[in-house]
Amino acid sequence: MIDAPVRPVTIVTGGSRGIGAAIALELARQGHDIVLNYASRADAAALMAGRIEAFGARCLPVRADVTDEEQVEALFSQAATLGPVTGLVNNAGATSFIGDLADTPVAVIRRVIDLNLLGTVLCCRLAARAMGKSRGGSGGAIVNITSIAAATGSPHTYVHYAAAKAGVETLTRALAVELGPDGIRVNAVAPGIVRTGIHADAGDAGRVDRAVPGIPLGRAGEPEDIAPMVVHVMSDRASYVTGAVIAVSGGL
Ligand code: NAP
Repeated sequence: MIDAPVRPVTIVTGGSRGIGAAIALELARQGHDIVLNYASRADAAALMAGRIEAFGARCLPVRADVTDEEQVEALFSQAATLGPVTGLVNNAGATSFIGDLADTPVAVIRRVIDLNLLGTVLCCRLAARAMGKSRGGSGGAIVNITSIAAATGSPHTYVHYAAAKAGVETLTRALAVELGPDGIRVNAVAPGIVRTGIHADAGDAGRVDRAVPGIPLGRAGEPEDIAPMVVHVMSDRASYVTGAVIAVSGGL
């Protein structure tokens, strides 16, 4: 009897919609089983789970707020029921509000920094514990979704979000060094302006179309433009890539 090939188990945070959903689908197409994290919209997660399973992958939707230590621990415990976790995509994120810093409510600033930076830090911490070879794991790969905002700073738009994403890029480079000897690669993918619900959720649905004239490749990104790079960096074909921040931005 020939054993079935082992499918890697990969956690995608914020995998129920937008870029995370495209990443989860592409990973499933490439043979991964998926732990599909989401915050609140169980209906969107269930819909995605069905699409992922259509590729023959197992999919475990897990509701967890990535900014909450206990919920992140529960996310990783539930993920382990599918088998040893060897991949993590830290995708959950939001901009929430658009404007000058002076006009941005402090509660929004806290929420945005917590979600984009602290959430990524907490998930990386548990991934290091689960996957680190010195801790009994079998190694793996982490991909953090940042933004070209980390480089531009996004003045008059959301400087605190940009600062959080810059923090994620520093975390990526530092953890690549810390975890390389433990068999874990850590990279970041930085999208440009991508057509998802994030802009309407921040109160500016027209933002993408207004940005198009300034994008060198002449169009906004789609989630499906981002996913293949994430899957590539996660794969063994990128086995010598770590600590990299890769822009997928149409030239922005
Ligand atoms: P999106 O369409 O708004 O989807 C956000 C996802 O994150 C949803 O699945 C949502 O779950 C989940 N989420 C929100 N808060 C969460 C929390 N506290 N814990 C766990 N999950 C949470 O966003 P997107 O545009 O695809 O963005 C994905 C990533 O790309 C983010 O990190 C974003 O900063 C980055 N990015 C986006 C763009 C862009 O133009 N779209 C550009 C550069 C970078 P629910 O469905 O349950 O709410």
